[in-house]
Amino acid sequence: MIETRSEPAANLDRVRAKIAKACEEAGRDPAEVTLVAVTKTFGADAILPAIAAGQRVFGENRVQEAKAKWPALRAQHPGLELHLVGPLQSNKVKEAVALFDAIHSVDRDSLCAALAKEMSRQGRSPLLFVQVNTGAEAQKAGVLPEEADAFVRACRETYGLDVRGLMCIPPVDEPPAPHFALLAKIASRNELQFLSMGMSGDFRIAVQFGATHVRVGSAIFGAREAGSRNALDTSES
Ligand SMILES: *Cc1c(COP(=O)(O)O)cnc(C)c1O
Repeated sequence: MIETRSEPAANLDRVRAKIAKACEEAGRDPAEVTLVAVTKTFGADAILPAIAAGQRVFGENRVQEAKAKWPALRAQHPGLELHLVGPLQSNKVKEAVALFDAIHSVDRDSLCAALAKEMSRQGRSPLLFVQVNTGAEAQKAGVLPEEADAFVRACRETYGLDVRGLMCIPPVDEPPAPHFALLAKIASRNELQFLSMGMSGDFRIAVQFGATHVRVGSAIFGAREAGSRNALDTSES
């Protein structure tokens, strides 16, 4: 058990080394790439070793789960950054704006309106990414690639949102490179600085294509068991 608990720290070293190597090969400065450690389904027993190993930026995909886990951790460890990488329902916007430093999933007008209202009410400005459904998959969130330019313009002009980047999740059964290239192209023509792309299986390729934020979960914290809220915590069952 003790070995299992120290595993996230060792895995973090490996992931950081791979990011550094991918940056070197691509002629990029590793300081341009933020590692977002995605902790969904994992509890403090997995997260604390990562914090102890110097990790400061974390990601969650659900507002409720983040709200249950992170306020206590953040109170104990000032200076942590928390990113929402999963879809955001309009009725959770208030909590999301209060909790997160970045939101990677802006993808519709109603959400923009709700975000603009809450950000001004709370005086908070999380870093905003527009999610693009680069594979045009029916089950996936995000704006379609051909709608992205107009949507980014609406974010800025209609809602006054200072969107700064794009995010994508390529289809599982396709090579990710064309999707990363497409996202980079859309970002460039819309003068968006940040690219949230790359997960455990493909973050090195994402770095080649200009990722500024890689969202890595299982390569750091281990496999998540399907259907289990917290695969590591068997003590309560
Ligand atoms: C879970 C998740 C990740 C991390 O996935 P891994 O394959 O475990 O690295 C990244 N992005 C989003 C949106 C996720 O939901």
